[in-house]
Amino acid sequence: MSLLERVVHIDQTKAWYGEIPIQSRYTVGIAGERFFREIKDNGRLWGTRCPHCDLIYVPPRLYCERCFAHLEEWVEVPTTGRVHTFTVVHLDLDGNPLPEPRIVAFIQIDGTDGGLVHDLGEVDPEDVCIGMCVEAVFKDPAERRGSITDIRYFRPVR
Ligand SMILES: [Zn+2]
Repeated sequence: MSLLERVVHIDQTKAWYGEIPIQSRYTVGIAGERFFREIKDNGRLWGTRCPHCDLIYVPPRLYCERCFAHLEEWVEVPTTGRVHTFTVVHLDLDGNPLPEPRIVAFIQIDGTDGGLVHDLGEVDPEDVCIGMCVEAVFKDPAERRGSITDIRYFRPVR
């Protein structure tokens, strides 16, 4: 099959098992660098504000997606938010059952127009609801690596 032909039936595909040695490096960009550095070094969340549109972006952006202004105003934002939507995951990426279901949510960060997709913790799936108030639980500073997983999960605000 050439590259110009299309797969029209699943029987035309083949699975290939093995390893492909690939190295890649992903850069988070200028805004992402500062965002993840604040999480790692200080356990804080920051966003950028567009003064023209009065929007606060979390994760931060360098340009407003509405008016294309260059965003230079950085604002610290709360580590709390509300569950905007969520799902309960029972299988891993290979289709194997997870020992415990994961709850993955989009959390709108309080006082902002953005949010983060992250795990919920310290809550049972049947107790999660849209609008639930949650807070970020950060790893200990020595465990942080400058990644979104430096936030262990979000848990309900007590
Ligand atoms: Zn704008």
